[in-house]
Amino acid sequence: MTTVTSDLLRTLAYVDGAWAESDDGATFTVTNPATGETVADVPRMGATETRRAIEAAARALPAWRAKPAKERARILRRLAASMADRADDLAALMVLEQGKPLAEARAEIDYALSFYDWFAGEATRLDGAVLPSPWPDKRIMVTREPVGVTVGITPWNFPSAMVTRKSAPALAVGCTMVLKPAEQTPLSALAIAALAEEAGIPPGVFSVVTGDAQDAPVIGGEMTSNPLVRKLGFTGSTEVGKLLMRQCAEHVTKLSLELGGNAPFIVFDDADLDVAVSSALVAKYRNSGQTCISANRMFVQSGIYDAFLDRFASAVRALKVGDGFTDGVQVGPLIDRPAIDKVEAHVADAVEQGAEVVTGAERIDGQFYRPSILTGVTASMRMSSEETFGPVAAISRFDAEEDAIAAANATPYGLAAYFMTTDLGRTWRVGEALEYGILGVNTGLISTEVAPFGGVKESGIGREGSSFGVDDWVELKYWAVGGIEGAG
Ligand code: ADP
Repeated sequence: MTTVTSDLLRTLAYVDGAWAESDDGATFTVTNPATGETVADVPRMGATETRRAIEAAARALPAWRAKPAKERARILRRLAASMADRADDLAALMVLEQGKPLAEARAEIDYALSFYDWFAGEATRLDGAVLPSPWPDKRIMVTREPVGVTVGITPWNFPSAMVTRKSAPALAVGCTMVLKPAEQTPLSALAIAALAEEAGIPPGVFSVVTGDAQDAPVIGGEMTSNPLVRKLGFTGSTEVGKLLMRQCAEHVTKLSLELGGNAPFIVFDDADLDVAVSSALVAKYRNSGQTCISANRMFVQSGIYDAFLDRFASAVRALKVGDGFTDGVQVGPLIDRPAIDKVEAHVADAVEQGAEVVTGAERIDGQFYRPSILTGVTASMRMSSEETFGPVAAISRFDAEEDAIAAANATPYGLAAYFMTTDLGRTWRVGEALEYGILGVNTGLISTEVAPFGGVKESGIGREGSSFGVDDWVELKYWAVGGIEGAG
C-alpha cells in the first residue's frame, strides 16, 4: 500500500479557521480507486456545520473585503508558492484518492496553483469606470465589488484545480467561501485548506465542509437556502447543476455552472496526421477519459480515415494502464464502481447496435478499463448522447464538412470541441459554426489559467480563469452623483 505520511493528509474538515469533526462524530471513507484500500476517514457533515461555516464566512467578510487588493494578493501568492513547494506531496495525495497517473497529478498541481497567482494579479487590476454623464450637474461612476459570501461545490476529476479555480477569484476580489469537495476526493481540498491557513488566510474566509454522497444534497440545500450566501460556483453533472439552479431561484443567488460536455473531435482530410493522433490521445485518454472536455465523439473524414485509425490504434494499444504511482503509467483506474459500470454499459449498448471493437472494450480488473476504440458509432448509441467518462474512443466516419458540423452540434451540450485541419478557410468556417465555449484547433490540450473556461447551452453559465473569470465574482455598482454646484 502506498501511503502519504504528510502533514497535508488532513482527516478533519476546516471550518472558521479550526479543524473540525462533524457534530455527531460520523465519518465516511475515502478509498484508493487503484487498490480499493482505505485512504482516510473524513467527517460526515450536514446542514448545521454548513450553516456554521457560512455564518463564519459572513463574519469574516467585512475585514477581508476591506483589505487592499494588494494585501489579499500577497497572501494568495504565498499560498501558490507553498503549493509549489509541496507539489510532490499534494500530487501523491491526489493519486491516492483519485487514481490519476502521478505525472498528471503533478501537472494538475501546477495548473491549480496558477489560479492563485493569476487572480492575485487580476484583483489588483480590478478597476471601474467613469462614464460621460448626460446631466450637467451629475457624474456617473461604476465600481466593482465582491459579491460577498460565496459557496463552491466541486467534483472528483480534478480534485485540486476545481477548488482553486473557484476559490482563487473569489478570495482575490474580496469574497469569502465555503467549499464542499466531492465525496470521492476531499483530501486534496483539505490539504489546500491547510496551506491556506499557513499562508495567513484569516479564519472564516475559506472553509471546507466534507460529506458523503448522502450528505451532498443536505449541504447543498443549506448552501442554496441560506440567505447569507450570494453566489454558488458549481462544477459537476448537468443533472445536479439544474437542481442547484432551481434551488438558487429561491433567493436569486448568483450562479456559475461548469457542467457536462459531449465534446466532438473532428479530423478533416487535410489534418496533419501526427498532430491529429497526438491531440486525440490527450483529448481522449487523459485522466482515463474522465474530464468534461474529454473527446466523447470522434468524427473522421473518409480520405484520412484508414491512416488515422491505423496510427491511432497503435498508439492506443501502447498506452500503459495501471496504478498511478507506477512509473510510466498513462491511464489509471476509473474513480469508482458506478463509473466503470457506466463505461461497460455504453460499450455493450454500442456493440449491440453494430459498433465494431478495434481494440480494448474490456475491464482489466478492479476499476481498470483497457483503453478502447470503437468504430461505426452512430447517433442512436448511448455513447453519442451521454458522456461515457472513460477511456473509450467512439469513432464515426463522415464525408462532408457540413455533416460533421451538424453532427458535432447535435447535442444539448456545448463545452469543448476539437477539430484538426491545416486549411485556413475551414478553420474559420468550422470554428464559427461550432456551438461551443472552447475550441481546440490542432490541439487536444486547452486548459490554462490565462483563458476563459466554460460552456454554452446545457454545459453551463459563466467562465472560470482569465481576466473574464473575475466577472463572475463581482457585482457592478453604478453611482449617480448629483448636486455638483456650478457645473455646466
Ligand atoms: P459527478 O457525476 O461528476 O460525480 P455530481 O454532479 O454528482 O457529478 O457531483 C459533483 C459535486 O456535486 C460533488 O461534490 C457532489 O457531492 C455534489 N452533489 C451531488 N449531488 C448534489 C446535490 N443534490 N446538492 C449539492 N451537491 C451535490
